[in-house]
Amino acid sequence: MNNTKSEKYFEKAQKYIPGGVNSPVRAFRCVTGNPLFIKRANGAYIYDEDDNEFVDYVCSWGPCILGHADRRIIDVVKAECENGLTFGAPTAKETELAEMICNAIPCAEQVRLVSSGTEAVMSAIRLARGYTGKNKIIKFKGNYHGHSDGLLVKAGSGLLTESVADSSGVPEGYVKNTLLADYNDEKSVERIFKNNDDIAALIVEPVAANMGVIPPKKSFLRFLRDICAKNNTILIFDEVITGFRLSYGGAGEYYGVMPDLVTLGKIVGGGMPLAAYAGRADIMQCVAPVGNVYQAGTLSGNPIAVTAGIQTLKILRENPDIYNKLDKNGAVLENVYKEKGINANRVGSLLSVFFTEDEVTDYSSAVKSDQNTFRKYFYQMLENGIYIAPSPFEAMFISVCHEEKEIEKTVSTIRHLKGII
Ligand SMILES: *Cc1c(COP(=O)(O)O)cnc(C)c1O
Repeated sequence: MNNTKSEKYFEKAQKYIPGGVNSPVRAFRCVTGNPLFIKRANGAYIYDEDDNEFVDYVCSWGPCILGHADRRIIDVVKAECENGLTFGAPTAKETELAEMICNAIPCAEQVRLVSSGTEAVMSAIRLARGYTGKNKIIKFKGNYHGHSDGLLVKAGSGLLTESVADSSGVPEGYVKNTLLADYNDEKSVERIFKNNDDIAALIVEPVAANMGVIPPKKSFLRFLRDICAKNNTILIFDEVITGFRLSYGGAGEYYGVMPDLVTLGKIVGGGMPLAAYAGRADIMQCVAPVGNVYQAGTLSGNPIAVTAGIQTLKILRENPDIYNKLDKNGAVLENVYKEKGINANRVGSLLSVFFTEDEVTDYSSAVKSDQNTFRKYFYQMLENGIYIAPSPFEAMFISVCHEEKEIEKTVSTIRHLKGII
């Protein structure tokens, strides 16, 4: 594979951008290589600056459920640009998107639009604290909720692979109110509630997807729902990945459990910088200007991003078969890995493999995955034209553009993997 141009761009990027990237996991550090610089993408395919073609299973880390450069989205976005890029005043389209979110997500009665998943989660946590008047929060080891200070504790993905337990620059005081529980371990949650009475919120990825994919054990989410209700603690589902991916109504609908608040990102912006937090109206009414919990944004509800979001949700809503197709293709890949003797976890179109014999159900079992084997696996896939995340703790994202041809190519590559097990 010729990487001449990517190498050249990477060298220059490192001069002007720390590590040459604007988000750490892009840097290929944990597969000890250099990142490919991407020129364009279409459907299920992504093309680098050297014109290498790959079937893309990163899908921009989740947003591209409809594949890349969908004509139906590009056209409305282009047209909307002609009206101006931002106004800093309300638009009718913001309400249209908010209404669509409320109709889609079971717990959503009101919505606030923001620009990133990090911002959505940070704001939802502040809101939960403002609403309850309590200070502490519970999060799970290996769940990632963006990079706000209080949540950078055992935070998964980039932080797992870089072996940075915590970020520097986060004062102790910011994390002392963050209590850590073990994913899928009800006892660890009970213990925290028993020893603390000041818990404003419990936040969880309803399907963990930032330490590899780990499904919730049967009744785990139901258990969280009940214990939060009993303790007047706000239950927040961080559905930045699962929202509109597991089903149109997200994990809340998929598992039939209603949180009090939900955070959305990735798919909801259709590839543009847009995210949201939403939930019970009595809680959302605490947000300024109605209530005293302050949260604002110059580009919040940006008209171009909102347009891309509306169009994406419309397509998903009007084509519910999409979710069956994603699930079916997910199952095909999962089975091929398993036939090959590779440990795979999957929920719908979220899939990941672990190079460990043991079942992976939480953070400590996930980090047993062998990184050297992952590295070998990653480069064999890449050499065969399959682009997966350059980290063992990220999900593989399947899009509706992954058709039989792309799935077949992937299946055949997996079947021919060498020296992996
Ligand atoms: C990606 C992600 C975030 C952060 O979203 P950004 O838009 O990257 O800030 C938060 N929570 C989860 C579950 C995520 O996967």
